[in-house]
Amino acid sequence: MELLKQKILEQGIVISDNILKVDSFLNHQLDPDLIVAIGQEIARRFHNDGVTKILTIEASGIAVALAAAIEMKVPVVFAKKNKPSTLQGQVYSAGVYSFTKKEQVTISVAANYLDPTDRILIIDDFLAMGAAANGLVEIVQQSNATLVGLGIVIEKGFQKGGQELRTKGLRVETLVTIASLTDGQVLFG
Ligand code: 5GP
Repeated sequence: MELLKQKILEQGIVISDNILKVDSFLNHQLDPDLIVAIGQEIARRFHNDGVTKILTIEASGIAVALAAAIEMKVPVVFAKKNKPSTLQGQVYSAGVYSFTKKEQVTISVAANYLDPTDRILIIDDFLAMGAAANGLVEIVQQSNATLVGLGIVIEKGFQKGGQELRTKGLRVETLVTIASLTDGQVLFG
């Protein structure tokens, strides 16, 4: 997605050889035009797949998931981190190790928001080691819904997450793949 590549080159900050900061448009401040365009592009890629619900994880996935959901006319469910006391009844949960925060969290979704008849599209902002994506996949499996695929805004192709998911036979659609962040340079894949 050229618009997104342009934005990354203009505003992305390479924090280290494996972390890209995109706080000015995706992870802290949000660029509404870009987020809408991202949602439209994800929706376009999955428009023939009968998606009935989008699943993401708080917080950074929510904006892009909502943009895609408006386009696809389906609801969004976001997994909550560290089960709040308001989350009652049957809950689907998975452990997720955050590569950026270096901490383990449990993500949870109330069972009544995922139905076995649902066809789920998972959306997230970044795909790195795959922990967040795998946690969401586990939750879909617990619900017995059908997983249509994953829509990822930025995949860091030099980390193992994307390859592992594809090896499992899952469909992963990535809008921009980064091949390397070495020496402070963003190289696209
Ligand atoms: P994973 O679970 O695949 O290792 O990492 C995915 C999650 O970590 C994403 O939801 C994202 O919030 C965060 N993340 C991973 N790598 C990066 C990165 O390079 N930059 C930013 N801003 N977030 C990242």
